[in-house]
Amino acid sequence: MEKVVIIRYAEIHLKGKNRGFFERVFIINLERALKGIRHELHRTSGRYLVEKFDTARYEEIMERVLRVFGVHSCSEGLLVPNDMDSIFEAAKCVAPAGGTFKVETHRADKKYPLTSMEVSAEIGGRLLAHNRALKVDVHDPAARVYIDVRENGTALVYCSSRLGAGGMPVGTAGTGLLLLSGGIDSPVAGYMMAKRGMTVEVLHFHSYPYTNDGAKEKVQELAALLSQYTLVERLRCVNVAHIQEEIHKKCAADLNVTLLRRFMFRIAERIAAKVGAQCLVTGESLGQVASQTVEGLTSSNSVVALPVLRPLIGFDKEEIIERAKKIGTYDTSVLPFEDCCTVFLPEHPAIRPKLSYIEEEEAKLDVEALIEDALKTLEFIRL
Ligand code: ATP
Ligand code: MG
Repeated sequence: MEKVVIIRYAEIHLKGKNRGFFERVFIINLERALKGIRHELHRTSGRYLVEKFDTARYEEIMERVLRVFGVHSCSEGLLVPNDMDSIFEAAKCVAPAGGTFKVETHRADKKYPLTSMEVSAEIGGRLLAHNRALKVDVHDPAARVYIDVRENGTALVYCSSRLGAGGMPVGTAGTGLLLLSGGIDSPVAGYMMAKRGMTVEVLHFHSYPYTNDGAKEKVQELAALLSQYTLVERLRCVNVAHIQEEIHKKCAADLNVTLLRRFMFRIAERIAAKVGAQCLVTGESLGQVASQTVEGLTSSNSVVALPVLRPLIGFDKEEIIERAKKIGTYDTSVLPFEDCCTVFLPEHPAIRPKLSYIEEEEAKLDVEALIEDALKTLEFIRL
């Protein structure tokens, strides 16, 4: 009797002709998640099996696999020879200790001497005789014992399943460049795009020496946490301190954040071109702060040609916090280090700035030179 992990995938079956591509990427991601653990991964009738691993590492394997996007659910299964005695031994192990149950059999081996119904009846009967606390309920059982009679002389026996991360395999939905701050929102935004299959590259703007090493380490930590989901293990950083100084010196104070955001987007677009990203991703949510009004968003959009994806646009802060906790980034996000935006924060930021006013103020700066200088500070950090 061999312990295996059964992996069911989420939406991949919807993808028609692309299915082969989705499955190839999915396997690569699963293998990556299992790196360092001895195992074999096999595809079998619409799902995957992890076999031949050290059973002491079962829980670790389960946890790693459940986190891979595209995984709908996983079950602990037992792989046995397909004779009834072996199947019964396995069924005893996976069956509940008591309560109602039902046996469901699927027979891939159509030459098997018993029909699916007969296998279910036989194993169900034996389980009942073995354990008096069990009761059959074919309509609404509390537990189901599944038996797959396979074509290669083995049978797979399993019971409950654990829900996986869902979504689509990372690497199947293009590449985006996430603007990652040290806050709560942007890590969640990156997670959400990765969940839909996007490869998420990460860019952070800092204001050294106005911000310190603690702030930088915090962002590195966030990027590292995010990489568990995005599978991208690098972070790019650009220093915007000089741009902030110039804005502070020459432009209306109420536009500080608005103008800085436009620089961030422009710089991000240039870096996106280098990394092959087809869009920018931010953690903005409508109305959350002054720069996230529809006018604020329009002002940032208007300086780039790339689409800007904002997966959190309709989320309340509470909902974002809940997700941040769930994906494990919250505790790091709330560490008290300054993000570059807070350094020159105006007391009264413009809430609905007109584009003409913004452009007038921006004209006081040498935009192109500032961008070029900032790009020279680009740093590449391996996580
Ligand atoms: P977050 O919690 O993600 O920091 P926020 O509510 O603090 O968001 P803002 O500070 O207005 O909102 O930032 C809005 C978005 O702009 C962020 O979600 C992020 O995508 C981007 N952004 C802000 N600051 C930075 C930064 N220093 N580096 C990279 N991106 C940033
Ligand atoms: Mg922020």
